[in-house]
Parts: sequence; C-alpha cells; structure tokens
Amino acid sequence: MILKPGREKSLLRRHPWVFSGAIDRLDGVPESGESVQVRASDGRFLAWAAYSPRSQIRARVWSFGESERPGKGMLRTRIERALALRRSLELVESTNAQRLVHAEADGLPGLVVDGYGDTLVIQVLSAGIERCRDDIADFLCELTGCAGIYERSDADVRELEGLPVRAGAIRGDAPPVPLEIVEHGIRYAVDVQGGQKTGFYLDQRDNRRRISELARGRDVLNCFCYTGGFSLSALAGGARSVVSVDSSGPALALARRNAALNGLDAPGTEWLEADVFRYLRDARTQGRSFDLIVLDPPKFAPTEKHAPAAARAYKDINLNALRLLRPGGLLATFSCSGGVSADLFQKIVAGAAADAGASATLRGRFQAAPDHPVLLEFPEGEYLKGLLLQRN
Ligand code: SAH
Repeated sequence: MILKPGREKSLLRRHPWVFSGAIDRLDGVPESGESVQVRASDGRFLAWAAYSPRSQIRARVWSFGESERPGKGMLRTRIERALALRRSLELVESTNAQRLVHAEADGLPGLVVDGYGDTLVIQVLSAGIERCRDDIADFLCELTGCAGIYERSDADVRELEGLPVRAGAIRGDAPPVPLEIVEHGIRYAVDVQGGQKTGFYLDQRDNRRRISELARGRDVLNCFCYTGGFSLSALAGGARSVVSVDSSGPALALARRNAALNGLDAPGTEWLEADVFRYLRDARTQGRSFDLIVLDPPKFAPTEKHAPAAARAYKDINLNALRLLRPGGLLATFSCSGGVSADLFQKIVAGAAADAGASATLRGRFQAAPDHPVLLEFPEGEYLKGLLLQRN
C-alpha cells in the first residue's frame, strides 16, 4: 500500500490508522484483514497494517518496524503484555471484572476483551482481528486459564468494517445469565449475552466509587442508570434518596435485582423507565430538585462528524440538570463520545451553565479506569471524560 505524497505524517507520529483518502495505490488485491506493508510515496517503509477493504479506516497498524512482522508470535506477545499490565494494576483488590485488552492501546486494534470472573467476553471489531480470531481465542485460554470465552461481536461498528454480526460461545460453555461480579464491595448481576456492550460499563468503575464518596446525605438523581452502577454506589455511600432513570426496561429490571442483591432496595429508591430528555423537563415542572446529579449518556458522537448534533444533546441535558440542582449541589457529567474532545465537552457544559443562569465551580475531572489505557499518540482512545461541578 503506497500513500499519497505528504500523507505519511500521521504514521510518522505513530498514529495507528490509515484512512482511505490517504492511499495512492495498492500492490495487488489484499484479502480482508490481511497484513500489508504501508509505504510513503517515496517508497519508504512506514508500518505493517491489517487491510480492511470496506472501512474508511482502510488499514490499522500492527507495528512500525519493518522487522516486526505481524503473526502468531506478535499476537501472543501483545496479549501477554496486556495481561501483565492488568496484573500490575492490582485491581483484584477492588474487583473481579476488568478490561483485559483495550484495542489500539494494547497494540491490538479492534479487539476488546473483558474478564468477568473466569468468563471472558470478546468483541472483534476490525477485519484484521477477525482474520486471527481463532488464534486469539487460543492464546487467551492458554494465558488466562479462563473457563470460557463468549463473543459479543454484535456492535454497529462491525457494519462499517463489512463484517457480519455474531454472538455466542466460542470456547467452553455459554456463561450463566446473569453472572455475578463484585466491584468495590458491590455485587452486580451482569448479562453478558444480552446486555449492552459486553454486559457492564467497566470504564466507570472508579468514578462510581467517587460518587459513593460524595453521596452521603444527598438526594441523588442518576440519569442513564443502566443496571444501577452509580445508583447503588450512591446508596452504599449513604445517599438519602436515589431516583434512577433509563429508557431500557431490561437494564432497569437488572438494576432492581442488583439493588436487592445488595440489600440496597430501601424506601427512597425510585427506578423510572423514561427518556431522560423528557424526564428532566417534567421534573422541573413538578418542582423537584436534587443535590447530586449524575449524567452518563450513551455515545452521542461516535465520530467528529456527529459532533454538532451531539453538542446540542449534551447542552440540553446539562442545562436541564443544572436547573434541578440545589445551591451547593454536585453535577457529575460525562461524555463517552470519541468525536467530542475534553476541551469541547467543557465548553458545551459551560454554555449550558450560562444558559441555565447557574454559576458553577469545577471540582474535578473524571476519566476511564486504568484498565482502559490511553496511548498518547492516539487521542481518539481517550473517549471517556467527565466533569464534577458544584453549583454556587
Ligand atoms: N452509568 C451506567 C452506564 C450508562 S450507559 C453504568 O455505570 O453502568 C447509557 C445508558 O443510557 C444505557 O443504559 C441506555 O439504555 C440509556 N439511554 C440511552 N438513551 C436514553 C434516553 N434518551 N433516555 C434514557 N436512557 C437512555
């Protein structure tokens, strides 16, 4: 694969994607997922990459050294390295569920592996990973000693890669539904077969704990609660009341079950199946107010192209949440959109506060838990960001 003149710059900075528009020509016709050499217009070697004929991200880099050839040896080493990093984080003290492989950040573009106890759940999200999926499954079994691997390759991004949707057990038996994990002392039932993503939002682990520390004595509103993570954390931390809102019935059913599992289904907990955009307006009409609000919406902007529409949606929920916040109240507001930078997100929230007529102090920032590492040369990987604000 030869790039157009000048289009080698991002690869020289070790950014791992080659967009279709940067390519001048191909040598031959590589198969989907095949490893190809990427060269500059002057013929200079740039990288080994996995070819993806359908995707706008036409190739994803395996390595930047000509002698570092992709293959089984590289796969095994990368998986070993990813597991060694997780061991060094010593998360076992706080949880038995963690992200074991985080795609580009672990040198395995398009591969996500989450470990829930001894069950692994994998997502294969690129043509390159699809091609070596069997080897990956074998290495994961060998290196983790897991009981089984369940595949959840049913994410929308597979379509962009021209790959069919697929889900099911690929090693061992299908895991129980739900299975149970523990995180910071809270038990969660997780549906790895039917839940969102691989079943649980592991990236918010430490932020859930932070909310637990802030919740004592507060009336809490948790918007986009999914299976109750922030709600249970707030209740465990001594919240006075918690209202939780989500549009997914199955997620709420599991959330209720999780509350019961932990003896946290006390009076004062409300679980509402509703659209958050509507709920925030209705709550204002009803004169409700809170002193801790969590906003953890789904990805409004998967790519930069969606940023303007996403900005409107973020502004709307932040503005209406701030209106429900009592003076001195806290707002923990998140964005998991790769297409919205931390800087842009802060500007949107500041605009929302101005329009709500609310002055707020920035008390802190949130990021993904450390088992979701971020490569400096790949800023898109820093998808989760959050602000902790206090209303003055
Ligand atoms: N905070 C959660 C994860 C949130 S994921 C945790 O810690 O586990 C985002 C959630 O938003 C999903 O559960 C999804 O069902 C819900 N959702 C998406 N759009 C919504 C809307 N318009 N109103 C209410 N919930 C919505």
